[in-house]
Amino acid sequence: MMVRCGSCRNQFDVPGPGRFTCPVCGSVNSVRAAPGAAPPPAAQPPSTPVPRPPDPPSPRVTCAECDFTFIVGPVAEAKCPNCGAAVPTGSVEESPEPS
Ligand SMILES: [Zn+2]
Ligand SMILES: [Zn+2]
Repeated sequence: MMVRCGSCRNQFDVPGPGRFTCPVCGSVNSVRAAPGAAPPPAAQPPSTPVPRPPDPPSPRVTCAECDFTFIVGPVAEAKCPNCGAAVPTGSVEESPEPS
């Protein structure tokens, strides 16, 4: 471990705590255990995962003909996979059709 002489500021290496004579100026330096040693790193708290935004709710529609519920895409009208009936989803505004 490196210690600094209190008299001449010379740094010299010592095997451990004790009293050591500075090789430069002859001053006796008392070396304490691990002076200025960094404390052991504290246990890092578990990193908080970034909360993932919830998935947008999948648009579901229920077929009026057979009560079959299924997920639809961004379409105004979906075809029921169960009975084949056209089911309006309401997810897209239908353009008014001239009647
Ligand atoms: Zn010295
Ligand atoms: Zn159906």
